[in-house]
Amino acid sequence: MIDKPLACEALLTEAAGLIGGDSPRLDAELLLGYVTGWSRTTFRAWPEREVDAALVDRFRTLVERRCEGHPIAHLLGEQEFWSLPLKVNPSTLIPRPDTECLVEAALALDLPRNANVLDLGTGTGAIALALASEQPGWRVSACDAVREAVDLATDNADQLGLPVTVRQSNWFEDLPSVAFDLIVSNPPYIAGNDVHLGEGDVRFEPASALVAGDDGLDDIRQITAKAPAWLSLGGWLILEHGYEQGAAVRQLFTDAGLTCVETRQDYGRRDRFTLGRKQDAER
Ligand code: GLN
Repeated sequence: MIDKPLACEALLTEAAGLIGGDSPRLDAELLLGYVTGWSRTTFRAWPEREVDAALVDRFRTLVERRCEGHPIAHLLGEQEFWSLPLKVNPSTLIPRPDTECLVEAALALDLPRNANVLDLGTGTGAIALALASEQPGWRVSACDAVREAVDLATDNADQLGLPVTVRQSNWFEDLPSVAFDLIVSNPPYIAGNDVHLGEGDVRFEPASALVAGDDGLDDIRQITAKAPAWLSLGGWLILEHGYEQGAAVRQLFTDAGLTCVETRQDYGRRDRFTLGRKQDAER
């Protein structure tokens, strides 16, 4: 069937009825905005505005993919994080708003003006780019084990004009030996048998960015064990983790000899990340 031109309101109503989930109308508006280049306010101000037949066809194809469960971020190829538009693709995790809480905590630390900062497993580059955008004096580098993610993060840094160096490295394996004042990471932390892996956006994200062994702590164990050797004295480690992993992660931090260990919460008031410090020289 060849699609006819249609009014945007008619298209949005049709799509919202098909999409389901938490925010069908918003999803429909984002997809139609993407296809037409019109802002979401246009749809309200000019609901009878006609969409060309070719665009109607493209829109309906995207709506079908959304109905299959593909994340909106993958369909748009973009996700905003810390107000930065980031390109995303299926090679890595889609940045989550809750990860902004780590960025806030990192920015609140009393770090040197020219601090050396590392984002491990950077994915899209979200954390590294957010930090670089706020602290132009910091030397921010990032790594990821997955080549496509390294390319994506590099692309995002170039696009935003932010000076973040991105390397391919599985955690610390292939990094130049620098002492970091801050190491931050949102590593995989979901247990392999977690039922959530069969629901929502995570079905379309790679296991390499999500799953970490039977208890979800495999990667966090590796990172905490090695981090002290890569931290400067007084340097901080901040790791994102699952909301039920706070106590286990604090124990791993303490076992690694880190001090000032503390778990903090996300926007939904659930335990989400833990900070710890390599003992200061004076102590
Ligand atoms: N917070 C993500 C989720 O639960 C998982 C992120 C991660 O494993 N690093 O969907």
